[in-house]
Amino acid sequence: MQKQILFLGAPGVGKGTFAKRIAPLIDYQHLSAGDVLRNEVRNRTKNGLLASAYMNSGSLVPSSLIIDLMRTQVLQASQRPGVLLDGFPRQREQAELWAACNENKLPDLIVNILLNEEVLLTKLTSRRMCEKCGENFNLADIRFPPFDMPALLPRVPDVCDVCGASPLVQRPDDRPDVVRRRLALHAELEAPLLHFYKSRGATVVYFVVNRGVQLTAEHG
Ligand code: AMP
Repeated sequence: MQKQILFLGAPGVGKGTFAKRIAPLIDYQHLSAGDVLRNEVRNRTKNGLLASAYMNSGSLVPSSLIIDLMRTQVLQASQRPGVLLDGFPRQREQAELWAACNENKLPDLIVNILLNEEVLLTKLTSRRMCEKCGENFNLADIRFPPFDMPALLPRVPDVCDVCGASPLVQRPDDRPDVVRRRLALHAELEAPLLHFYKSRGATVVYFVVNRGVQLTAEHG
């Protein structure tokens, strides 16, 4: 049966950045719930129109909607040895529904990524995204012990390295008021979600981040 690894953690901890780099190394398909939703919004699908109001206000989209979308994505990746689920399931209800979709099989590994709260806020509000392809950048250069998180800058200022689109924008849900709501929601939902998995014997590991990644190393 196809393996499933979950990357969990507060908004802005770098789940997507790490997942995007790790998944190809093990030939897994990286599936980010946020990216899947943003793609629906970008393509103005029925699901996207429904999801955008929730996303812009920092709330979770209805569980049935994200479960359907992620099921489709996982099916499309069925030839891969595994999938790396990034930001999904995000609450106990989703974890229960997802287990039911997977013959009650639990994820093979759950990685809970943790980052100092002050650094998290700086990183979130300094994030920039390409509206066209969704690539992420970060303007914050955080270097004070024990943190070594260089900015993730595009090669040409304000131009996406991947697709060349410009300008790079701030996500509507990265505005400070929405960020606060997203972080509060994460804090409320994290413990019951982890309790669900741990009480069923799933392997949960904690990964404390104090180093970033450099885009320049990858793009050479
Ligand atoms: P992210 O890119 O992970 O920060 O997600 C951006 C937004 O997408 C969240 O604030 C939610 O509105 C929505 N979203 C992402 N993942 C989920 C999920 N598993 N369940 C419900 N909504 C989600």
